[in-house]
Amino acid sequence: MPHVVTQSCCSDGSCVYACPVNCIHPSPDEPGFATAEMLYIDPDACVDCGACVSACPVGAIAPDTKLEPKQLPFVELNAMYFPKREGKLPPTSKLAPVLEAPRVNSRPGGPLRVAIVGSGPAAMYAADELLTQQGVEVNVFEKLPTPYGLVRAGVAPDHQTTKHVTRLFDRTAASPGFTFYLNVAVGEHITHDELLAHHHAVLYAVGAPNDRRLDIEGVDLSGTSTATEVVAWFNGHPEYTDLPVDLSHERVVIVGNGNVALDVARILTAEPDALARTDISDHALTALRDSHVREVVIAARRGPAQSAFTLPELIGLTATHEVVLSAADHDLVQSDLATESDPLTRSKLEILAGLGAAEAPSTRPRIRFAYLMTPHRVIGSAGRVEGVEFTITGTTETRRLDTGLLLTSIGYRGKAIRDLPFDDAAGVVPNEGGRVDGTPGTYVAGWIKRGPTGFIGTNKSCASQTVHELVADYNAGALADPVAKTSALDRLVRTRQPDLVDSAGWAAIDSAELARGGGIRPRVKFTAVPEMLAVAATAPRPPLSRRLLSGLLR
Ligand code: NAP
Repeated sequence: MPHVVTQSCCSDGSCVYACPVNCIHPSPDEPGFATAEMLYIDPDACVDCGACVSACPVGAIAPDTKLEPKQLPFVELNAMYFPKREGKLPPTSKLAPVLEAPRVNSRPGGPLRVAIVGSGPAAMYAADELLTQQGVEVNVFEKLPTPYGLVRAGVAPDHQTTKHVTRLFDRTAASPGFTFYLNVAVGEHITHDELLAHHHAVLYAVGAPNDRRLDIEGVDLSGTSTATEVVAWFNGHPEYTDLPVDLSHERVVIVGNGNVALDVARILTAEPDALARTDISDHALTALRDSHVREVVIAARRGPAQSAFTLPELIGLTATHEVVLSAADHDLVQSDLATESDPLTRSKLEILAGLGAAEAPSTRPRIRFAYLMTPHRVIGSAGRVEGVEFTITGTTETRRLDTGLLLTSIGYRGKAIRDLPFDDAAGVVPNEGGRVDGTPGTYVAGWIKRGPTGFIGTNKSCASQTVHELVADYNAGALADPVAKTSALDRLVRTRQPDLVDSAGWAAIDSAELARGGGIRPRVKFTAVPEMLAVAATAPRPPLSRRLLSGLLR
């Protein structure tokens, strides 16, 4: 009865270190870890102790006897990663080699003080790694009044278990030495130099907030948008509540077939009553209830074997949604199957080969994968999109798809940070293991460091590498001591941003959202900043005497 890793695997590797027999791979020290689509449990080596279940922050692991029917393909997928053997392996007491926590050599002048900009997974994993040591202070700056970045605003609402990683982040945020400065924009309320003056180091974990833009004729017509904007819209991000998402046409076209495209296609074709049990924004739910969409076409410029979506996401999608292929695309799948040797890609192709025919009538909204479709131009009239013209990749033949909504989903892109160098071609801040080139005391982690790839948990090892470099610099005396006490920073930020939201304010927003869920939905999010601030202002404050005392001590 081995345990099995399933779809919501976040790849943070916590399970690897909890396993007493080192049967979960690839582990963070192994070469395939950075590019693996998920982690896998060796069924022949698993001793069925369940330690991995408790360690997994997103509930992705279960014994094979407790899987839901739609999770059963993951039994074979886990086994497939390992060489075929005869019978069980003898139990071992081998542990995966653990990366040592960075040891901070404390100094008489006070604790190591680090400012982290951003509060998404890379930021929170970095804070967690730093706070494994006594006497470290971490101040997290976030421009929204709510923390956790893409976990809150980027993970699709039908993937609620993935959002459970916030429980881990909540624990980090409650650690001694951790302070939230929410609703504070670095570069607007406080500068990089000011942050550096009040800390030994500044670590940017700001992600890749822009979309890669598709540069074709007509892409700015009304009725075109990006998939990531739509994700922010249905997740209640306050800057996207008014995004025009026109669902009055029968077909939506998405260009690009990565996991973001799958997320959007799933939500646009989901049963609204099922979404009503999630934390989807009310404005999106209302729009989806009125939707006329019958088909979402996910158009990729290359062939089936080069599909950018991952196998776990494809397994999950086909378990819950009707997904189809045209006869011509079925032929492409068969020809790829005839030559493909990589087992994971073959599994993807076998699932695609089993999909229904797009030519058959359908009773429910469905998703169609389309291949060899290179976007050529957007067609419209009176300023509105009416269709997209593609060329069949490698030919001059064209094909038109009518649509009222075109979404490009061709990847995220990092944005330059004021006062820091920027590699415009790669969309990242140039760095060596997280240490920003030519900018002492400044570090990066997450997508702004390595580009927009991987999963939530991939940021754990990425952040850990940066923190090791930062602590090594501190221990070597390479980081200047802060010029003022933390209380001075607190006063400075409050002067610049009187609407600062602190941990108590966030706790008030969080509790109010959970209460609004009424036990039926996980939460009902506030989607407007003034609403959030009004709730944060109701947070109980410690008595003045305690605040004065803590100010004197810091
Ligand atoms: P992605 O995986 O990089 O996919 C980008 C897609 O855009 C590919 O199909 C790519 O095709 C296509 N593309 C790029 N340039 C194009 C062009 N000029 N014309 C037409 N097509 C073009 O990006 P993503 O979907 O935004 O995902 C970003 C990261 O987040 C990934 O690591 C993903 O796995 C992760 N993510 C994970 C989840 C999850 O686990 N549930 C959810 C969302 C995101 P080519 O391959 O031909 O270049």
